[in-house]
Amino acid sequence: MKLLSAIVPCYNEEENIADFYREFMKNDAFFQDREIQLELWFIDDGSRDRTVAEIRKLIGQDKRVHLLAFSRNFGKEAAIYAGLEKASGDYVVFLDADLQDPPSVLPEMFGYLEQGYDSVATRRVTRKGEPPIRSFFARMFYRIMRRISRTEIMDGARDYRLMTRQVVNAILSMPEYNRFSKGIFGWVGFETKWLEFENIERKKGETKWSFWKLFIYSLDGITAFSTAPLAFAAVMGVLFCVAAFFFIIFIIVRKLIFGDPTSGWPSLVCIISLISGVQLFCLGIVGQYLAKTYMEVKRRPIYLVKEEI
Ligand code: UDP
Ligand code: MG
Repeated sequence: MKLLSAIVPCYNEEENIADFYREFMKNDAFFQDREIQLELWFIDDGSRDRTVAEIRKLIGQDKRVHLLAFSRNFGKEAAIYAGLEKASGDYVVFLDADLQDPPSVLPEMFGYLEQGYDSVATRRVTRKGEPPIRSFFARMFYRIMRRISRTEIMDGARDYRLMTRQVVNAILSMPEYNRFSKGIFGWVGFETKWLEFENIERKKGETKWSFWKLFIYSLDGITAFSTAPLAFAAVMGVLFCVAAFFFIIFIIVRKLIFGDPTSGWPSLVCIISLISGVQLFCLGIVGQYLAKTYMEVKRRPIYLVKEEI
């Protein structure tokens, strides 16, 4: 008998737990036929509502359900990592608790593993139901990422993924603190089949990702999987040096030919403010990477457990 572990990160999802369980277990018969047992790992990411109580209720009814509760909110990335460490399945799948990752396509995904793929990923081709500004920035993020990172990061990729034990172990071998799963999945490689579906709106409750949180997350993604901004800072430095060189020649020549008129104060102020702005910006870029390195060398645990059932 083989085992398929499903990892479900939950943060204030009390209304969705029972619905999710019901939907997910509809796949039971399909997997029983293939001699595969299911196990469910709910990773509670420091919820402040009755999420844990809802999960406990399920554990009382079904011993295939497990709970790992964090001591506080560590973020979805930490929950994904914790789930991978806990799951013992020969196959592992991540799903959101809000049913935006439809469990009904799991059999189809599994079909591709049987065909020999190592992992099956999903992406949404539409973003209907999402605020237009959010879609716009999301698209921009993926476009920039594709340019500046060598790791393949798909536009609209969801974290809904089914993978073999081999891929799981590859991901676990990356114990970095600044985790950006969409990049990590691409980085480890392996044969990946992409399934596409239309965006499905969240069943109940509301999204845990504010615009600002997503913006910070996108910066994390860029610093984690690209050093292009550092190169950009260096290139800016060179460009300004070249410009300064021509300025110097221009000023010397003007002095020799026309003498030294003392005008030019406004232009000087403009140039100084422009260049100091660019300098601070580049310093900020370096600071971002330094900050990430700082957090990385501290080697703090990615998550802390309060309870495990
Ligand atoms: N989530 C989490 N920790 C967080 C934020 C979200 O574990 O700090 C979980 C959440 O419970 C859900 C999944 O991550 O199962 C996706 O979150 P959400 O649906 O809010 O994001 P969206 O689908 O709007 O991008
Ligand atoms: Mg969602």
